[in-house]
Amino acid sequence: MESTFAGIPVSVEYKKTSRLSMTFDKGGTLIVTVPLRATESDILRFLSDHRRWIRIHYTKAVAFAEAHEDIKVEEGGHLPYLGENLTVHIGGKTRTTKTENEIIFPEGAGEEEYIKWLKKKAKEYLPAKLALISESTGIPFRRTRISGAKKSWGSCSPDGTISLSWRLMMCPPEAIDYVIVHELCHRLHMDHSKEFWAEVESRMPDYKKRKKWLDANSFLMDLFE
Ligand SMILES: [Zn+2]
Repeated sequence: MESTFAGIPVSVEYKKTSRLSMTFDKGGTLIVTVPLRATESDILRFLSDHRRWIRIHYTKAVAFAEAHEDIKVEEGGHLPYLGENLTVHIGGKTRTTKTENEIIFPEGAGEEEYIKWLKKKAKEYLPAKLALISESTGIPFRRTRISGAKKSWGSCSPDGTISLSWRLMMCPPEAIDYVIVHELCHRLHMDHSKEFWAEVESRMPDYKKRKKWLDANSFLMDLFE
């Protein structure tokens, strides 16, 4: 069943389930899953009861759809890099290069080329940044590892290895610094206790703003394989 609710596209799916649930798909359509016996008024009541949730998440879903649509390795597309929004140009004569606000790929390049480039940049940028912040905060670590993690931007293992996802290169430097401070603070507290957050805050008083950016842009982690 296709319809709209308060101007929002809705798709109702009847399933063998005992309760009603909903989620937005990547295109901004509200997918409502309902039990086989649900009536139209059951569905309407469910939607009305969750009007506020729907509004908030619709705005997010649309922002995602718009941002996602534009991010592509195609002439005129855009790619995020360290807080910049680079315009894609394809047809360069040599390997991938970045100018002030453009990224120039060789002829025939696709997503894999951008990923390869990001990984190379990550290997230069992230360990250097980690070393710098480790020194300024006075928190040591043992090793650094560049990962391709999609579930978290970074992690810290009990043996002192700090892993940072190359996907961080799509984030602004301020957000990256926060992830590094966060992981370094796990060297002091291996949990997310009050004490842990107090350590983070003492080293980065405006960390909440940076964390908020990462939470709102976590879709960047799912963009590429
Ligand atoms: Zn953590």
